[in-house]
Amino acid sequence: MDDYARFVLDRAKGGSAPGQLRGNKAKRSKKAAQIMLDETHAAGRTSWVVSANGHAAFPIQNLPFGIFSTQGGPARGGVAIGDSILDIGAALDAGLFSGLSRDAAEAASGRTLNPLLEAGAAARVALRRRIGEILDANGDGASAIRTLARRLIHDAAHCTLHLPARIGDFTDFFAGIHHARTAGTINRPDNPLMPNYKYVPVAYHSRASSVLVSGGTVRRPNGQRKPPEQAGPDFGPSRNLDYELELGAWIGPGNALGSPIPISEASRHIAGFCLLNDWSARDIQAWESQPLGPFLSKSLSTFVSPWIVTPEALEPFRMAQPPRPDGDPAPLPHLNDGADQANGCFDIAMDVLLQTPKMREAGAAPHVLSRANASMLYWTVAQMVAHHTSNGCNLQPGDLFGSGTVSGTEPGSEGCLLEMTRGGRDPVVLPGGETRTYLMDGDTVIFRGTARRDGFAMIGFGECRGSVTGAIALAG
Ligand code: CA
Repeated sequence: MDDYARFVLDRAKGGSAPGQLRGNKAKRSKKAAQIMLDETHAAGRTSWVVSANGHAAFPIQNLPFGIFSTQGGPARGGVAIGDSILDIGAALDAGLFSGLSRDAAEAASGRTLNPLLEAGAAARVALRRRIGEILDANGDGASAIRTLARRLIHDAAHCTLHLPARIGDFTDFFAGIHHARTAGTINRPDNPLMPNYKYVPVAYHSRASSVLVSGGTVRRPNGQRKPPEQAGPDFGPSRNLDYELELGAWIGPGNALGSPIPISEASRHIAGFCLLNDWSARDIQAWESQPLGPFLSKSLSTFVSPWIVTPEALEPFRMAQPPRPDGDPAPLPHLNDGADQANGCFDIAMDVLLQTPKMREAGAAPHVLSRANASMLYWTVAQMVAHHTSNGCNLQPGDLFGSGTVSGTEPGSEGCLLEMTRGGRDPVVLPGGETRTYLMDGDTVIFRGTARRDGFAMIGFGECRGSVTGAIALAG
């Protein structure tokens, strides 16, 4: 019996939630028992879109939402299925939805997915379940639906992907404790973590207008640089351009100004996840950040992977938040919820790959620089939501969170070059002999995210990819 079958059986007996299947010791609670698997997670389910079967990222068990366009066509909602995209509006026009799934399909067929994010979990779940039926190789009416394939299905290689939502606000957290500690050590060897770190999910308001979808170029920014040995700053191209490996979260319904979201309800406001590259100019950051934090060193651009991977798709990969080390304080009550501690963490492997122009010319594959996991974050995303709204601040559908750089403690699990090169002191040696302290023009950075667990189909996020291009030449 596989894990899925065992869970369904356990659930029928009033049994445990999937986090507890992993053998963790988290206490049971009513809310934890609400974590549900359903037919959309069954490992044996296959699609008549044959490229989906065994697909490393987008099997029928994933069904992430995004915005795509075909040549000459409008941007519109779609679902990734294998190497293809299901056109939600075309399926709607074909009469394949009814009831709540029809309302949700309408919300998901326009130029942005904000209406779907706003509609909340019930609508999203109904849409996911119906799309699963539509794409199921053995679903009711599969042969009739298949005859519509030419209208419903597009080859992803011939489509353009867009930002999935209009982003009102982008908040970047700092929840990667190993990153915070290592980055802190570089500047404050004796006191790497600030005293607030284990109480406050630290964050800053970043820039929404410069968030771009994966696949483009990031221009090396000009800015004020002041190396320690230099008496004053000068203005020019950043010499220390870096990436930051982050988990992104898309906000769902949100809250009215003045009405905090309690931690017990916070997960209902998380509509999905992506990979996020928070491009960072370290030299500009070091000079500008005192006392109000990063500004132009971060707003140069942020890239996200195009598909919104839903909490439902990630349900089998939930886990208990790893226990805090002995001596760490418990989260304050407004950030501490039994169900969130038992199931609010995700087991998502996150990889960073680098391809230099030389590697590209030689036909060499991108090189894996590091591997980390979303479970290394010190705070859950629900804790970020509860903290963000605890003063009454309102979140809106389509707001974007970055987790902060995800890093582990082992060499090879650093989520940025600042950590990997110890602040630029120890260059990384690449296969072929090239070295890097920070990114060079022409370098391509690729993030990949995958979730796997015995008894379930592996799912992935697709790529978050971007290439560095040279700075704008300065006048004079
Ligand atoms: Ca960041």
